[in-house]
Amino acid sequence: MLKKMHWKEKTVGIVSLGCPKNAADTEKMISDLSGRGYTVVPDLGAAEILLVNTCSFVTDARRESVDTILELSKYKEEGKARFLVGTGCLVSRYKDQMGSLIPEMDLALSTFEEERLGEILDDVGGLSTGAKPPILFPMADSRLTPLHRAYVKVSEGCDHPCTFCSIPLARGGQVSRRMEDILSEVAHLASRGTKEITLIAQDLTRYGQDLGLSDGLATLLERIDQDTPVPWVRLLYAYPTLVTERLLKTIRKSESVLPYLDIPLQHVDEKILGAMKRPGSVDFMKRLVDRIRDTLPEIHLRTTFIVGFPGETETEFEALLRFVEWANFDHVGVFAFSREEGTPSFDLPDQVPHRIRMRRRKDLMTLCARISLEKNRRLEGTVMPVLVDGVSDQSELILSGRIKGMAPDGIDGEVLILSGQARPGEIVECRITKSHPYDLEAWEVGVPEIPQ
Ligand code: SF4
Repeated sequence: MLKKMHWKEKTVGIVSLGCPKNAADTEKMISDLSGRGYTVVPDLGAAEILLVNTCSFVTDARRESVDTILELSKYKEEGKARFLVGTGCLVSRYKDQMGSLIPEMDLALSTFEEERLGEILDDVGGLSTGAKPPILFPMADSRLTPLHRAYVKVSEGCDHPCTFCSIPLARGGQVSRRMEDILSEVAHLASRGTKEITLIAQDLTRYGQDLGLSDGLATLLERIDQDTPVPWVRLLYAYPTLVTERLLKTIRKSESVLPYLDIPLQHVDEKILGAMKRPGSVDFMKRLVDRIRDTLPEIHLRTTFIVGFPGETETEFEALLRFVEWANFDHVGVFAFSREEGTPSFDLPDQVPHRIRMRRRKDLMTLCARISLEKNRRLEGTVMPVLVDGVSDQSELILSGRIKGMAPDGIDGEVLILSGQARPGEIVECRITKSHPYDLEAWEVGVPEIPQ
């Protein structure tokens, strides 16, 4: 039974860890709290209630989540904060042990319980407002992202059995959102001036299967195009065997869906993929890349690989290097295998030593950086539409933006606009003047060049 607290200020300080899917959950909790009269404050030291939305994807993420909660518990010791809440994947995975593992927390809610946060805080605060209809989507002003861009989560959880992945342990099986709810969210964001919507899920391409839809993602994109065209719609987290012809054709026909696909492949060797409980082979992956480029020649392709998976030999790693050389991806995320408690790969034989995993990660990243620089060099002199995100971290005289081939939050690099007058959220034509492995430099067309 939670002790009654009788809130004085109803101020909340929030730390949201992990992936954009977790951020979308944080935004929903903010919307719920704001609707109940709580105020989210940027200064954690000025908050009566503190909330950490945790991540548990890999060991480092779990450690960061625990450290953050302990860090914030100091505000309670200092008498600044009065109540500490933990939510998210770490809580979901270790719900029963939370009380003993982190006694500093007053309330621990799993991802399945987060929608009750406002109701519980009201109850603890003696404000018995009871349950309210669940928040269908976060309001634009509850977002953690700038107004001109937003993540829209289309489903929760995952049904795939990848042996290295802990996400299903925390988030359960796939549950798709109703298409009408997603469309209302997109309409709401468009009405608030959002220019870029990034659709996310654990597996975006499986959207709607649990609702009885086939090719649900293609249908959703057609509806977005039809109902609420937004300048840029981006797709993250596709699954290799679920990239259908209809989806590719829908992207090709669409004005707003960007020629951008993120398809984590994880590996290309059949034996390793088998041990990961994932589909594919080198030939399968080559046919997939060819098929995508045949339908969408201007596509920007992002993928992710895990190196050093148990049993991976030098020969299999070299096959991966040759494939990456051939595939010429625009962006590649490279992870060294992380042995995760509770996942089937934790107990696999032939674990690869740390030193070798790190060396393979370095080798693959070096190759990808070289490929990315070659591709960026070919953009020099061209004029491209750039979505301006704001002032760059490098200098307030330089704007930061992204071309269609760059996803938000710096995962694919940025365009540094050395001479520009555009405001955040504007899509402006820029001439690419210089290239780096991941970033580009540019002038905004029509703006006088500032001598460097
Ligand atoms: S598809 Fe992605 S989220 Fe699902 S189990 Fe595999 S790696 Fe994890």
